[in-house]
Amino acid sequence: MLINLKKFLLSDDLVMNVDDRLTIMDEEFLEKNKLKKEIEFSGRFFKVEKSLLLNAKINYFYSETCARCLEEFENKITANFNAIIVDKLNDDYEAEDIEILIKDSCIDLEEPIKQVVYLSMPMKALCKTDCKGICPKCGINLNTDKCECNDFVIDPRLEKLKTLLSD
Ligand SMILES: [Zn+2]
Ligand SMILES: [Zn+2]
Repeated sequence: MLINLKKFLLSDDLVMNVDDRLTIMDEEFLEKNKLKKEIEFSGRFFKVEKSLLLNAKINYFYSETCARCLEEFENKITANFNAIIVDKLNDDYEAEDIEILIKDSCIDLEEPIKQVVYLSMPMKALCKTDCKGICPKCGINLNTDKCECNDFVIDPRLEKLKTLLSD
């Protein structure tokens, strides 16, 4: 996930946009989070006084279990982050922005992006906002199937009516 900033740093340009697909190499991280290794990255680097800053947006995809119907589905998450590019990490750095180390005019986005993925992954997700879930009685997935559990619930008041009818 290396991005070479040399050209940009040597130029008079104040802004550089980078739109790219990046690949997470950490297999263990990918597996643990059921993550697709390709990340859509859209970043804007800009020079401000003596600093180099990055505003970025990523889209990542992972396999999630729906909290309502328990089916697996591919979830897409969009996350934004801001970073400051530094040539030396600051131990007592406390701002919200991420620090990214520059080395030989290159930055490696793997660690910062893993951090953003880790922090933005939701605890719970639904396959779709109107997921119907599963029937609490028979366990059928109500998005794809129909059951008659509800039809069999008879209001006790109607039960009485029924006896009247049968006379
Ligand atoms: Zn669902
Ligand atoms: Zn049912």
